[in-house]
Amino acid sequence: MLSFWERDELLEYDFIVVGGGIVGLSTSIELKEQNPSASVLLLEAGMFPTGASTKNAGFACFGSLTEILSDLEKLSPSEVQDLVALRSEGLQRLRNRLGDETIDYLNFGGYELLSESQLGALDRIDEVNELLKPVLNHKVYQIDPDIRRFGFDEARVKAMVFNPFEGQIHSGKMMKSLQQKTSQLGVNIITGVKVEGFEETSGQVNVHLEYTKFSCAKLAICTNAFTKDLVPDLELNPGRGVVLVTKPIDGLRIKGTYHYEEGYYYFRNYQDRVIFGGGRNLDIAGEASTDFQIRDLIKDKLVSDLETLILPNQAFDVDHIWAGIMAFGPNKQPILKQVSNNVFAGVRLGGMGVAIGSKLGYDLASKMLA
Ligand SMILES: Cc1cc2nc3c(=O)[nH]c(=O)nc-3n(C[C@H](O)[C@H](O)[C@H](O)COP(=O)(O)OP(=O)(O)OC[C@H]3O[C@@H](n4cnc5c(N)ncnc54)[C@H](O)[C@@H]3O)c2cc1C
Repeated sequence: MLSFWERDELLEYDFIVVGGGIVGLSTSIELKEQNPSASVLLLEAGMFPTGASTKNAGFACFGSLTEILSDLEKLSPSEVQDLVALRSEGLQRLRNRLGDETIDYLNFGGYELLSESQLGALDRIDEVNELLKPVLNHKVYQIDPDIRRFGFDEARVKAMVFNPFEGQIHSGKMMKSLQQKTSQLGVNIITGVKVEGFEETSGQVNVHLEYTKFSCAKLAICTNAFTKDLVPDLELNPGRGVVLVTKPIDGLRIKGTYHYEEGYYYFRNYQDRVIFGGGRNLDIAGEASTDFQIRDLIKDKLVSDLETLILPNQAFDVDHIWAGIMAFGPNKQPILKQVSNNVFAGVRLGGMGVAIGSKLGYDLASKMLA
Protein backbone atom coordinates (compact mmCIF):
# COMPACT_ATOMS: atom_id res chain seq x y z
CA MET A 1 0.00 0.00 0.00
CA LEU A 2 1.41 3.39 -0.98
CA SER A 3 1.68 6.32 1.41
CA PHE A 4 0.56 9.83 0.59
CA TRP A 5 4.25 10.85 0.36
CA GLU A 6 5.04 8.12 -2.14
CA ARG A 7 2.00 8.93 -4.21
CA ASP A 8 2.79 12.65 -4.06
CA GLU A 9 6.50 12.54 -4.94
CA LEU A 10 7.72 9.17 -6.25
CA LEU A 11 5.31 8.01 -8.94
CA GLU A 12 5.29 10.73 -11.60
CA TYR A 13 8.20 11.75 -13.84
CA ASP A 14 8.90 13.74 -16.97
CA PHE A 15 10.74 10.74 -18.46
CA ILE A 16 10.87 7.04 -17.63
CA VAL A 17 13.55 4.83 -19.18
CA VAL A 18 13.05 1.06 -19.13
CA GLY A 19 16.26 -1.01 -19.17
CA GLY A 20 19.51 -0.23 -17.39
CA GLY A 21 22.03 -1.42 -20.00
CA ILE A 22 24.39 0.90 -21.86
CA VAL A 23 21.53 2.35 -23.95
CA GLY A 24 19.18 2.99 -21.00
CA LEU A 25 21.96 4.59 -18.94
CA SER A 26 23.24 6.68 -21.86
CA THR A 27 19.71 7.83 -22.68
CA SER A 28 19.07 8.83 -19.05
CA ILE A 29 22.34 10.75 -18.91
CA GLU A 30 21.54 12.57 -22.16
CA LEU A 31 17.99 13.43 -21.02
CA LYS A 32 19.42 15.02 -17.86
CA GLU A 33 22.36 16.71 -19.56
CA GLN A 34 20.20 18.19 -22.29
CA ASN A 35 17.36 19.09 -19.87
CA PRO A 36 18.73 19.35 -16.28
CA SER A 37 15.44 20.30 -14.63
CA ALA A 38 13.61 17.21 -15.95
CA SER A 39 12.78 14.35 -13.58
CA VAL A 40 14.00 10.99 -14.89
CA LEU A 41 13.33 7.49 -13.56
CA LEU A 42 15.22 4.42 -14.80
CA LEU A 43 13.65 1.00 -14.17
CA GLU A 44 15.82 -2.13 -14.48
CA ALA A 45 14.54 -5.68 -14.07
CA GLY A 46 17.75 -7.20 -12.72
CA MET A 47 19.85 -6.50 -9.65
CA PHE A 48 22.58 -5.77 -12.21
CA PRO A 49 21.60 -4.96 -15.79
CA THR A 50 20.68 -8.43 -17.03
CA GLY A 51 21.06 -8.59 -20.79
CA ALA A 52 24.27 -7.84 -22.62
CA SER A 53 25.99 -4.75 -21.26
CA THR A 54 27.64 -6.43 -18.26
CA LYS A 55 28.03 -9.77 -20.05
CA ASN A 56 29.99 -8.82 -23.16
CA ALA A 57 33.64 -9.35 -24.09
CA GLY A 58 34.67 -5.69 -23.95
CA PHE A 59 35.79 -5.22 -27.54
CA ALA A 60 35.88 -1.56 -28.55
CA CYS A 61 35.58 -2.28 -32.26
CA PHE A 62 33.72 -1.15 -35.37
CA GLY A 63 33.91 -4.24 -37.60
CA SER A 64 36.53 -6.56 -39.09
CA LEU A 65 37.25 -6.76 -42.83
CA THR A 66 34.98 -9.77 -43.45
CA GLU A 67 32.24 -8.29 -41.23
CA ILE A 68 32.23 -5.15 -43.37
CA LEU A 69 32.16 -7.31 -46.53
CA SER A 70 29.23 -9.24 -45.07
CA ASP A 71 27.46 -5.94 -44.21
CA LEU A 72 27.93 -4.87 -47.84
CA GLU A 73 25.87 -7.88 -48.95
CA LYS A 74 22.84 -6.56 -47.02
CA LEU A 75 23.32 -2.79 -47.03
CA SER A 76 24.32 -0.18 -49.58
CA PRO A 77 27.86 1.28 -49.36
CA SER A 78 26.52 4.51 -47.86
CA GLU A 79 24.47 2.58 -45.28
CA VAL A 80 27.63 0.68 -44.29
CA GLN A 81 29.47 3.99 -43.96
CA ASP A 82 26.67 5.28 -41.70
CA LEU A 83 26.81 2.13 -39.57
CA VAL A 84 30.58 2.38 -39.10
CA ALA A 85 30.20 6.10 -38.31
CA LEU A 86 27.62 5.20 -35.64
CA ARG A 87 30.03 2.71 -34.04
CA SER A 88 32.99 5.03 -34.24
CA GLU A 89 31.08 8.07 -32.87
CA GLY A 90 29.58 5.92 -30.12
CA LEU A 91 32.99 4.72 -28.98
CA GLN A 92 34.36 8.24 -28.96
CA ARG A 93 31.36 9.48 -26.98
CA LEU A 94 31.81 6.67 -24.42
CA ARG A 95 35.53 7.37 -24.04
CA ASN A 96 35.00 11.13 -23.74
CA ARG A 97 32.24 10.67 -21.20
CA LEU A 98 33.96 8.23 -18.87
CA GLY A 99 37.68 8.62 -19.62
CA ASP A 100 40.04 5.89 -20.87
CA GLU A 101 41.53 5.18 -17.45
CA THR A 102 38.13 4.69 -15.82
CA ILE A 103 37.09 1.99 -18.29
CA ASP A 104 40.58 0.45 -18.74
CA TYR A 105 40.53 1.38 -22.43
CA LEU A 106 43.64 -0.06 -24.06
CA ASN A 107 44.53 0.17 -27.71
CA PHE A 108 46.63 -2.84 -28.71
CA GLY A 109 44.93 -3.05 -32.10
CA GLY A 110 42.77 -5.82 -33.53
CA TYR A 111 43.44 -8.78 -35.82
CA GLU A 112 41.23 -10.88 -38.05
CA LEU A 113 42.37 -14.45 -38.67
CA LEU A 114 41.52 -15.75 -42.15
CA SER A 115 41.24 -19.39 -43.19
CA GLU A 116 42.18 -20.73 -46.65
CA SER A 117 38.61 -20.30 -47.96
CA GLN A 118 38.50 -16.63 -46.86
CA LEU A 119 41.69 -15.47 -48.57
CA GLY A 120 39.61 -13.80 -51.32
CA ALA A 121 38.72 -11.07 -48.77
CA LEU A 122 42.31 -9.81 -49.03
CA ASP A 123 41.65 -8.78 -52.65
CA ARG A 124 39.02 -6.34 -51.35
CA ILE A 125 41.06 -4.59 -48.64
CA ASP A 126 41.72 -1.52 -50.82
CA GLU A 127 38.02 -1.23 -51.73
CA VAL A 128 36.94 -1.38 -48.05
CA ASN A 129 39.68 1.03 -46.97
CA GLU A 130 38.53 3.51 -49.63
CA LEU A 131 34.90 3.10 -48.52
CA LEU A 132 35.70 3.81 -44.86
CA LYS A 133 38.26 6.56 -45.37
CA PRO A 134 35.70 9.40 -45.33
CA VAL A 135 34.33 8.05 -42.03
CA LEU A 136 37.51 7.10 -40.18
CA ASN A 137 40.05 9.37 -41.93
CA HIS A 138 42.55 6.52 -42.14
CA LYS A 139 43.40 3.45 -44.14
CA VAL A 140 42.19 0.96 -41.55
CA TYR A 141 42.91 -2.59 -42.63
CA GLN A 142 46.42 -3.85 -43.39
CA ILE A 143 47.75 -7.34 -44.13
CA ASP A 144 49.98 -8.47 -41.25
CA PRO A 145 52.49 -10.89 -42.77
CA ASP A 146 53.82 -12.23 -39.45
CA ILE A 147 51.10 -14.85 -38.93
CA ARG A 148 53.25 -17.09 -36.73
CA ARG A 149 53.84 -14.43 -34.08
CA PHE A 150 51.01 -15.49 -31.77
CA GLY A 151 51.44 -19.27 -32.12
CA PHE A 152 48.02 -19.99 -33.70
CA ASP A 153 47.31 -23.25 -35.54
CA GLU A 154 49.07 -22.75 -38.88
CA ALA A 155 46.77 -25.20 -40.66
CA ARG A 156 43.77 -22.96 -39.95
CA VAL A 157 45.21 -19.45 -39.95
CA LYS A 158 46.42 -18.58 -43.44
CA ALA A 159 46.42 -14.79 -43.24
CA MET A 160 45.99 -12.01 -40.69
CA VAL A 161 44.53 -8.53 -41.16
CA PHE A 162 45.54 -5.84 -38.67
CA ASN A 163 43.37 -2.87 -37.59
CA PRO A 164 45.38 -0.43 -35.45
CA PHE A 165 42.25 1.41 -34.26
CA GLU A 166 40.65 -1.43 -32.35
CA GLY A 167 40.74 -1.36 -28.54
CA GLN A 168 39.44 -3.16 -25.47
CA ILE A 169 37.73 -2.12 -22.24
CA HIS A 170 36.67 -3.53 -18.88
CA SER A 171 32.88 -3.79 -19.29
CA GLY A 172 32.21 -3.98 -15.54
CA LYS A 173 34.07 -0.73 -14.97
CA MET A 174 32.25 0.90 -17.88
CA MET A 175 28.84 -0.02 -16.49
CA LYS A 176 29.68 0.90 -12.89
CA SER A 177 30.92 4.27 -14.01
CA LEU A 178 27.87 4.87 -16.24
CA GLN A 179 25.59 4.03 -13.31
CA GLN A 180 27.49 6.42 -11.03
CA LYS A 181 27.28 9.18 -13.61
CA THR A 182 23.56 8.59 -14.06
CA SER A 183 22.92 8.79 -10.30
CA GLN A 184 25.13 11.87 -9.89
CA LEU A 185 23.02 13.68 -12.47
CA GLY A 186 19.94 13.05 -10.32
CA VAL A 187 18.31 10.18 -12.22
CA ASN A 188 16.34 7.95 -9.87
CA ILE A 189 17.43 4.33 -10.57
CA ILE A 190 15.30 1.45 -9.30
CA THR A 191 16.64 -2.07 -9.90
CA GLY A 192 14.94 -5.43 -9.47
CA VAL A 193 11.68 -4.20 -11.01
CA LYS A 194 10.28 -5.60 -14.23
CA VAL A 195 8.01 -3.43 -16.33
CA GLU A 196 5.00 -5.55 -17.29
CA GLY A 197 3.51 -3.17 -19.85
CA PHE A 198 2.47 0.39 -20.58
CA GLU A 199 -0.49 2.33 -21.89
CA GLU A 200 -0.72 5.78 -23.36
CA THR A 201 -3.56 8.05 -22.26
CA SER A 202 -4.04 11.69 -23.19
CA GLY A 203 -0.67 13.36 -22.63
CA GLN A 204 0.61 10.69 -20.25
CA VAL A 205 2.13 7.20 -20.33
CA ASN A 206 1.30 4.75 -17.54
CA VAL A 207 4.02 2.20 -16.84
CA HIS A 208 2.83 -0.96 -15.12
CA LEU A 209 4.84 -3.03 -12.64
CA GLU A 210 3.52 -6.06 -10.76
CA TYR A 211 2.08 -4.12 -7.83
CA THR A 212 2.26 -0.50 -8.84
CA LYS A 213 2.09 1.99 -11.67
CA PHE A 214 4.39 4.90 -12.54
CA SER A 215 3.51 7.63 -15.01
CA CYS A 216 5.49 9.96 -17.22
CA ALA A 217 5.19 12.39 -20.09
CA LYS A 218 7.53 10.32 -22.29
CA LEU A 219 8.77 6.74 -22.12
CA ALA A 220 12.02 5.27 -23.52
CA ILE A 221 12.21 1.54 -24.12
CA CYS A 222 15.83 0.33 -23.96
CA THR A 223 15.25 -3.36 -23.38
CA ASN A 224 17.18 -4.69 -26.40
CA ALA A 225 16.65 -8.49 -26.70
CA PHE A 226 13.65 -8.42 -24.33
CA THR A 227 11.71 -5.76 -26.23
CA LYS A 228 9.07 -8.08 -27.71
CA ASP A 229 7.51 -8.43 -24.25
CA LEU A 230 6.68 -4.70 -24.37
CA VAL A 231 6.49 -3.88 -28.10
CA PRO A 232 5.74 -7.15 -29.93
CA ASP A 233 5.82 -5.79 -33.47
CA LEU A 234 9.43 -4.54 -33.53
CA GLU A 235 11.56 -6.71 -35.81
CA LEU A 236 14.23 -8.35 -33.66
CA ASN A 237 15.33 -11.74 -32.39
CA PRO A 238 17.33 -12.60 -29.30
CA GLY A 239 20.72 -14.29 -29.69
CA ARG A 240 22.60 -15.86 -26.81
CA GLY A 241 26.32 -15.15 -26.62
CA VAL A 242 28.67 -17.31 -24.56
CA VAL A 243 32.03 -16.10 -23.20
CA LEU A 244 34.74 -17.78 -21.13
CA VAL A 245 37.85 -16.49 -19.39
CA THR A 246 40.97 -18.54 -18.66
CA LYS A 247 43.05 -18.39 -15.52
CA PRO A 248 46.26 -16.34 -15.92
CA ILE A 249 48.65 -17.94 -18.44
CA ASP A 250 52.45 -17.66 -18.09
CA GLY A 251 54.10 -16.18 -21.17
CA LEU A 252 50.81 -15.41 -22.97
CA ARG A 253 51.61 -14.12 -26.48
CA ILE A 254 48.14 -12.85 -27.32
CA LYS A 255 47.83 -9.10 -26.92
CA GLY A 256 44.94 -7.23 -28.53
CA THR A 257 41.55 -8.22 -29.90
CA TYR A 258 41.07 -11.02 -32.45
CA HIS A 259 38.18 -12.22 -34.60
CA TYR A 260 37.56 -15.12 -36.95
CA GLU A 261 34.71 -16.62 -39.01
CA GLU A 262 33.12 -13.22 -39.81
CA GLY A 263 33.17 -12.18 -36.16
CA TYR A 264 31.26 -15.24 -34.93
CA TYR A 265 34.33 -15.99 -32.75
CA TYR A 266 36.27 -13.35 -30.86
CA PHE A 267 39.05 -13.43 -28.30
CA ARG A 268 41.32 -10.95 -26.54
CA ASN A 269 43.77 -10.76 -23.70
CA TYR A 270 42.68 -9.36 -20.37
CA GLN A 271 46.01 -8.86 -18.62
CA ASP A 272 47.52 -12.39 -18.88
CA ARG A 273 44.22 -14.18 -19.37
CA VAL A 274 42.30 -14.98 -22.56
CA ILE A 275 38.65 -13.97 -22.90
CA PHE A 276 37.01 -15.98 -25.70
CA GLY A 277 33.44 -15.98 -26.97
CA GLY A 278 31.24 -17.04 -29.85
CA GLY A 279 29.86 -20.20 -31.39
CA ARG A 280 26.33 -18.92 -31.99
CA ASN A 281 26.72 -19.82 -35.66
CA LEU A 282 26.75 -23.54 -34.75
CA ASP A 283 22.98 -23.33 -34.25
CA ILE A 284 21.61 -19.84 -34.93
CA ALA A 285 17.98 -20.94 -34.43
CA GLY A 286 18.74 -22.86 -31.23
CA GLU A 287 20.67 -19.92 -29.77
CA ALA A 288 17.89 -17.42 -30.58
CA SER A 289 16.76 -17.45 -26.96
CA THR A 290 16.44 -15.14 -23.96
CA ASP A 291 17.38 -18.07 -21.70
CA PHE A 292 20.86 -17.72 -20.15
CA GLN A 293 21.46 -21.51 -20.04
CA ILE A 294 24.74 -22.52 -21.77
CA ARG A 295 24.61 -25.59 -24.04
CA ASP A 296 27.45 -28.16 -24.21
CA LEU A 297 27.51 -27.74 -28.01
CA ILE A 298 28.80 -24.16 -27.63
CA LYS A 299 30.95 -24.66 -24.55
CA ASP A 300 32.74 -27.72 -26.03
CA LYS A 301 33.47 -25.87 -29.29
CA LEU A 302 34.95 -22.88 -27.42
CA VAL A 303 37.21 -25.13 -25.32
CA SER A 304 38.21 -27.15 -28.38
CA ASP A 305 39.13 -24.04 -30.43
CA LEU A 306 41.14 -22.71 -27.49
CA GLU A 307 43.08 -25.99 -27.34
CA THR A 308 43.63 -26.49 -31.04
CA LEU A 309 43.54 -23.06 -32.73
CA ILE A 310 44.29 -20.28 -30.25
CA LEU A 311 46.57 -21.83 -27.62
CA PRO A 312 47.74 -25.05 -29.34
CA ASN A 313 50.99 -25.36 -27.42
CA GLN A 314 50.03 -23.80 -24.12
CA ALA A 315 48.45 -25.30 -21.02
CA PHE A 316 45.46 -23.35 -19.72
CA ASP A 317 42.52 -23.69 -17.33
CA VAL A 318 39.09 -22.20 -17.85
CA ASP A 319 38.31 -19.97 -14.87
CA HIS A 320 34.71 -18.97 -15.62
CA ILE A 321 32.05 -19.14 -18.33
CA TRP A 322 28.90 -17.07 -18.72
CA ALA A 323 26.16 -16.06 -21.19
CA GLY A 324 24.48 -12.83 -22.21
CA ILE A 325 21.64 -12.05 -24.60
CA MET A 326 21.96 -9.84 -27.68
CA ALA A 327 19.33 -8.67 -30.18
CA PHE A 328 19.61 -9.13 -33.95
CA GLY A 329 17.63 -8.14 -37.02
CA PRO A 330 17.85 -8.62 -40.78
CA ASN A 331 20.93 -6.36 -40.85
CA LYS A 332 23.15 -4.74 -38.25
CA GLN A 333 21.35 -1.39 -38.10
CA PRO A 334 19.85 -0.65 -34.65
CA ILE A 335 16.20 0.39 -34.25
CA LEU A 336 15.59 4.00 -33.21
CA LYS A 337 11.86 4.52 -33.40
CA GLN A 338 8.95 6.58 -32.12
CA VAL A 339 6.56 3.75 -31.24
CA SER A 340 3.58 6.00 -30.48
CA ASN A 341 3.03 9.66 -29.55
CA ASN A 342 5.06 9.58 -26.34
CA VAL A 343 6.82 6.22 -26.46
CA PHE A 344 10.23 5.74 -28.07
CA ALA A 345 12.53 2.72 -28.52
CA GLY A 346 16.31 2.38 -28.93
CA VAL A 347 17.00 -1.33 -29.33
CA ARG A 348 18.59 -4.15 -31.44
CA LEU A 349 22.24 -3.40 -30.93
CA GLY A 350 23.63 -6.71 -32.23
CA GLY A 351 27.18 -7.66 -31.29
CA MET A 352 28.66 -4.16 -31.28
CA GLY A 353 26.58 -2.35 -28.68
CA VAL A 354 29.56 -1.23 -26.61
CA ALA A 355 30.41 0.85 -29.66
CA ILE A 356 26.91 1.93 -30.67
CA GLY A 357 25.24 2.33 -27.24
CA SER A 358 26.34 5.86 -26.30
CA LYS A 359 25.45 7.29 -29.70
CA LEU A 360 22.07 5.53 -29.76
CA GLY A 361 21.38 6.96 -26.28
CA TYR A 362 22.21 10.43 -27.55
CA ASP A 363 19.99 10.03 -30.63
CA LEU A 364 17.11 8.57 -28.60
CA ALA A 365 17.19 11.36 -26.00
CA SER A 366 17.40 14.00 -28.74
CA LYS A 367 14.36 12.49 -30.46
CA MET A 368 12.40 12.50 -27.19
CA LEU A 369 13.31 16.13 -26.47
CA ALA A 370 12.66 17.41 -30.00
C1 LIG B 1 28.35 -12.51 -24.88
C2 LIG B 1 28.33 -11.15 -25.47
C3 LIG B 1 29.51 -10.58 -25.97
C4 LIG B 1 29.49 -9.30 -26.52
N1 LIG B 1 30.67 -8.71 -26.87
C5 LIG B 1 30.67 -7.43 -27.29
C6 LIG B 1 31.88 -6.75 -27.53
O1 LIG B 1 32.96 -7.29 -27.27
N2 LIG B 1 31.82 -5.48 -28.02
C7 LIG B 1 30.63 -4.87 -28.27
O2 LIG B 1 30.62 -3.73 -28.77
N3 LIG B 1 29.46 -5.47 -27.99
C8 LIG B 1 29.45 -6.72 -27.50
N4 LIG B 1 28.28 -7.34 -27.21
C9 LIG B 1 27.02 -6.62 -27.49
C10 LIG B 1 26.71 -5.54 -26.46
O3 LIG B 1 27.01 -6.00 -25.16
C11 LIG B 1 25.23 -5.16 -26.58
O4 LIG B 1 24.95 -4.79 -27.92
C12 LIG B 1 24.85 -3.99 -25.67
O5 LIG B 1 25.31 -4.22 -24.36
C13 LIG B 1 23.35 -3.79 -25.69
O6 LIG B 1 23.03 -2.80 -24.74
P1 LIG B 1 21.51 -2.49 -24.40
O7 LIG B 1 21.50 -1.46 -23.35
O8 LIG B 1 20.77 -2.23 -25.65
O9 LIG B 1 20.93 -3.88 -23.88
P2 LIG B 1 21.13 -4.65 -22.50
O10 LIG B 1 22.47 -4.46 -21.94
O11 LIG B 1 20.68 -6.05 -22.75
O12 LIG B 1 20.12 -3.91 -21.53
C14 LIG B 1 18.74 -4.12 -21.59
C15 LIG B 1 18.27 -4.13 -20.14
O13 LIG B 1 16.85 -4.11 -20.11
C16 LIG B 1 16.46 -4.82 -18.96
N5 LIG B 1 15.05 -5.20 -19.16
C17 LIG B 1 14.55 -6.01 -20.12
N6 LIG B 1 13.22 -6.09 -20.02
C18 LIG B 1 12.86 -5.30 -18.97
C19 LIG B 1 11.62 -4.97 -18.39
N7 LIG B 1 10.45 -5.46 -18.86
N8 LIG B 1 11.60 -4.15 -17.31
C20 LIG B 1 12.75 -3.62 -16.83
N9 LIG B 1 13.97 -3.90 -17.36
C21 LIG B 1 14.02 -4.73 -18.43
C22 LIG B 1 17.39 -6.00 -18.92
O14 LIG B 1 17.46 -6.58 -17.62
C23 LIG B 1 18.70 -5.37 -19.38
O15 LIG B 1 19.53 -4.99 -18.30
C24 LIG B 1 28.26 -8.60 -26.64
C25 LIG B 1 27.10 -9.16 -26.15
C26 LIG B 1 27.12 -10.41 -25.55
C27 LIG B 1 25.85 -11.01 -25.00
